Amino acid sequence: MLSVNEMRSNIDNIESRICAACERSGRDRSEITLIAVSKLNPAEAILQAGDCGLSVFGENKVQELCGKLEVIDRPLSWHLIGHLQTNKVKYVIGRVEMIHSVDSLKLAEVIDRESAKKGVVTDILIEVNIGGEESKFGVTPDETTELAAQIGELKNVRLRGLMTVAPPVLSPSEARPYFAKMRELFVDIHSQNNDNNHINVLSMGMSGDFEVAIEEGATHIRVGTAIFGARDYGQHS
Ligand SMILES: *Cc1c(COP(=O)(O)O)cnc(C)c1O
Repeated sequence: MLSVNEMRSNIDNIESRICAACERSGRDRSEITLIAVSKLNPAEAILQAGDCGLSVFGENKVQELCGKLEVIDRPLSWHLIGHLQTNKVKYVIGRVEMIHSVDSLKLAEVIDRESAKKGVVTDILIEVNIGGEESKFGVTPDETTELAAQIGELKNVRLRGLMTVAPPVLSPSEARPYFAKMRELFVDIHSQNNDNNHINVLSMGMSGDFEVAIEEGATHIRVGTAIFGARDYGQHS
């Protein structure tokens, strides 16, 4: 785990890069939410990031998220950014601010049903497989508008926008066309004006490419390694 000074300097660095990207693209810093992706980092690292001023965190696994919620007794905002199985939906409803990884009507329906049971409306994003990669979760760009319309029929979910993980590329600038395509899709579903949708979130950009994502219209960037340092995958497998 990084020292508090190392973490603070990472966050300062990211902050100034966010501001520079905003300036280059004529945007305001307040349009961007920095989600600190804390997966595979211990609760202490999250608390330390909180001490450094961060309050919005992302986790990709339900079990890991719930474990952290047990031990962290601070009001932080949590986003679920990883693949979600329908049988795990009940564990996260009412506990996360947004689910970024909705990739089927079936999943949206289960989220709707569990949300109704708890008397809440859950904010969700459609995950788009923008590079058409075989190994990746997410709907195709072509499927996105129809799914957005179908989700609009559900009363206890509110579609807020789209999320993507760009394909691995050699340099951040190579991710630009994918982000630009996401931006077009985002505008498309915004102009659909479906019931129950409130489209204002475009979640894209990670440690390696968040500046390009901001330049192409991201409202939420998901940054892990650049804040917490390299993840130790071995420890958990
Ligand atoms: C891990 C992860 C991130 C953060 O990746 P970094 O490269 O560490 O910034 C962002 N989004 C998703 C969906 C992730 O799983």
